[in-house]
Parts: sequence; C-alpha cells; structure tokens
Amino acid sequence: MLQPQPHTGSYYAASVNHVTDYAPLRGAQRADVCVIGAGFSGISTALHLAERGYDVRVVEANRVGWGASGRNGGQIIGGISGEAKMAAHLGAEGERILWEMRWAGNDIIRERVQTYGIECDLKWGYLDVAIKPRHLREQQEEFEQLERREFPFHYRRLSREEVVATIGTEAYIGGLLNMGNGHVHPLNLCIGEARAAVALGATIHEQSPALSIEEGKKPRVVTSRGSVTADFVVLAGNVHHFIEPRLRGYLLPVNSFIIATEPLSEIQVANINPNDLAVCDPNYVLEYFRLSADQRLLFGGRFNYFSFEPAIIRKFMIPKLQRIYPQLQDIRIDYAWGGTIGVTVNRVPQLGRLADNILYTQGYSGHGVNVTHLAGQIMAEAVAGTMERFDVFAGIKPVVIPGSHRFAKPMVSLGMLYYQLKDRL
Ligand SMILES: Cc1cc2nc3c(=O)[nH]c(=O)nc-3n(C[C@H](O)[C@H](O)[C@H](O)COP(=O)(O)OP(=O)(O)OC[C@H]3O[C@@H](n4cnc5c(N)ncnc54)[C@H](O)[C@@H]3O)c2cc1C
Repeated sequence: MLQPQPHTGSYYAASVNHVTDYAPLRGAQRADVCVIGAGFSGISTALHLAERGYDVRVVEANRVGWGASGRNGGQIIGGISGEAKMAAHLGAEGERILWEMRWAGNDIIRERVQTYGIECDLKWGYLDVAIKPRHLREQQEEFEQLERREFPFHYRRLSREEVVATIGTEAYIGGLLNMGNGHVHPLNLCIGEARAAVALGATIHEQSPALSIEEGKKPRVVTSRGSVTADFVVLAGNVHHFIEPRLRGYLLPVNSFIIATEPLSEIQVANINPNDLAVCDPNYVLEYFRLSADQRLLFGGRFNYFSFEPAIIRKFMIPKLQRIYPQLQDIRIDYAWGGTIGVTVNRVPQLGRLADNILYTQGYSGHGVNVTHLAGQIMAEAVAGTMERFDVFAGIKPVVIPGSHRFAKPMVSLGMLYYQLKDRL
C-alpha cells in the first residue's frame, strides 16, 4: 500500500511558494464528487468542478503535487500521446476534435495562471530538436499542419546553424520553434490550482490514502479515518494508484530523472539559452531541458533504473548533460530527483469509467502537463453529463498488460531496451 511520504529532494520542492498542509480526512463526509489523487489530473478536475459549482472533496495519499505533477520537466507541449492511434479510430470529423484538444491543455494553463494569479514562472517558447533526418521530416509535417490549421502563435523551422545559435549546442541537426508551447514550475502551478479550487469551495485532504471504494448508487471512498459518500468518484492516482485492480494492468511504470545545476552566470545563459526556451528531443528514451527562473539548467532524461538515489541519478545524468553542453563541464549539480510516469501500450491516455458514477483518468505516457489539464476539464464535463470528448477516449479500449505491476521491473527493462533500439533507427 502507498505510505504517506513527504516531498523528495527536488528543486521544485525547495523553491515552492506555498507549503500545503490540508487536514487529513476524518469522519463520514459527503460531497457531489470525490476525487482520488491531488496531482494535475485530480486538481484540474477539482478546479473545473468547483468552477461549475460542484461540492468537491479531494483525497491525496501524500501532498498536493507529490507525484509526477510536482516533479516533472515542466514542459508544456501541445498534443496528445498516441494521437495517430486516436486519429485512426476517429475518422474525418474526429480530426477536428483532436486538433482542438491538442492545444486545449495549454489554453487552460494560460487562462488559469492569469485568472487566479498563480506564480509559477510560466514562460512561452519551446524548441523541438531533431537528431536524425527522419525527425526533420516529422517536424516538416508538423510545420505544415500548423500552417494548414492557421496556428495562432509564432512557429518556425530552424536550420542546424540556427539551433546552435539558439541553444549553444551542436548536438542537433535542426529544430521547430513553437511559441504556443512553453514551460512552468509544475509544483507551484499544481499548488496554485489547488489553492484556487479551495478558494472556490473545494476541500482537499492530504495524508489520506483512499483504501477502498464501495460501489453503489452513491459510491463511498474509504480512508483509514474517514469516508466520503458522493454522487461521483473520479480516480486520478495515475501510476501510483493501487486501490482499483482493474486499472493497474493498464499502465507500465517508467521512471524519468532530472538534475538541476547551480544558477548559471549571465554569460552562460547567453551562450546556452538566451530566449529561455524549453527544449526536448523526439526520442522515447528522450532528453529535455530548460532554465528555471533563477537560471539553473534543469536537465532531464530517462534511463533504466528503479531507485531515486540522488548519487546514482547524478552519475547517469551528468554525462548526458555534458554531451549536450561540454562547456558546462565544471558546473555544480545542486539537485537530483526522479519520478514515475504511467505509460500505456498504445500511448493513448486512458479516460473511462468503472461504473456509471466512477470515472478514471490516467496514462498520459510522459506527455501529461497539458493533457492532465484537458483531462480534468473532460472529467468535469462527464460529471455534468456532456460526454462527447470523454467518449473520444473511452471508445479506445485500453490494452491490458498482465502482471505489469508485479513484474514491473523486468517489463520496464525490456520496454526500455525495445525503445532504445527503436530510437537508434
Ligand atoms: C521526471 C518526470 C518528468 C516529466 N516531464 C514532463 C514534461 O516535461 N512535460 C509533460 O507534459 N509531462 C511530463 N511528465 C509527465 C507528467 O508529469 C504526468 O503525466 C502528470 O504529472 C500526471 O499527473 P497525474 O495527476 O495524473 O499523476 P501524479 O502527478 O502522479 O498524481 C497522482 C497522485 O495520486 C495520489 N494517489 C494515488 N493513489 C492514491 C490513493 N489511493 N489515495 C489517495 N491518493 C492517491 C498520489 O499520491 C499522487 O499524488 C514527466 C513525468 C516525470 C515523472
């Protein structure tokens, strides 16, 4: 079972604007909707519901943003993982819905930060970098789609030389700049949204793992010292979720790791990222990086490892950083941490229902900062009875991975190997 845990040693936890301390759930409570999990999925759902006037209670096993939402790369990248699969499922009319959903999460973040005055270092500007010629072809296709759809933000193809001038590394052969994508301090965003939901009347209970859900006309979520009886339950525990066995087999847990350097000098910033862009490569075993507000380089990537021991994370991540930026050879690393991503077999996020009044959202396959915000909106729509966008996802049957949690380590090792080989093609 998930034991309540404090935040780990991430740069985000060390630079948080507000430390949350919401009281654990006690006694028999009632709500219109009970949300399980206070990451972006759960908090986004709660805020959308509170905005619509629902009485919402969120139960969180640890702290708001404790999971992937408070640890990630902070890269806000439009699009949905597994889109090609979704497009094939949806047909011509679906293409329009899909295009709108691609950018909806970015818009929600933009609006919320403004509406609720959330201080979370939100910056716009993102560079998709290419390593191989096939990546350039994919970027050209994306560029043409942006043109066809009259994308409202600035975007531009960058040559190899322009990439070098823009981010001070010769590691890439071209890029696609998109000012409609960006980056954010994810923990401050998540906590800011939680505070907005509470200000609108939602109740959050931290240190309150949900232990079971009693199904029925009014489902009841049970924790060790209390319960919430509600009209609807929304499960938003993603890969950390443990109470609903049916959902566990849908996700493979994959770890991703980040190191944060000491603050860089003005000269170093001018050399490696003067325009303050988020940067990400297109591999599955990918690398991503950006500057924090205090000018640290936050450099992330995946490797085949299961512990979150900072010394090991440094050992694996520092050579990756130095390959991209040999000029930062002597830089000090102040923070190293990791988190777990819920990956689905077909990469399509899983939004569905276990019963008429028990919904779930999970499995963004590493592409969750924007999509969780969309998912929260779709969950709120579904509770209110509008099913159009919910059904787009719910209509795609999740692929079950037998024993995915029990045999997580060997399966993930095999998966990583498979994708490492694919990245090499
Ligand atoms: C290192 C890393 C880097 C990443 N970088 C990016 C990026 O740059 N851009 C991007 O788009 N995506 C990124 N992602 C993915 C993204 O962070 C996730 O897709 C997203 O945060 C998932 O949000 P969530 O709310 O569904 O899950 P989580 O944030 O994991 O939240 C789930 C919460 O549910 C709680 N919970 C679980 N079970 C229970 C229970 N029974 N009772 C109560 N509470 C429970 C957990 O404690 C947890 O707080 C990254 C992920 C990681 C780990």
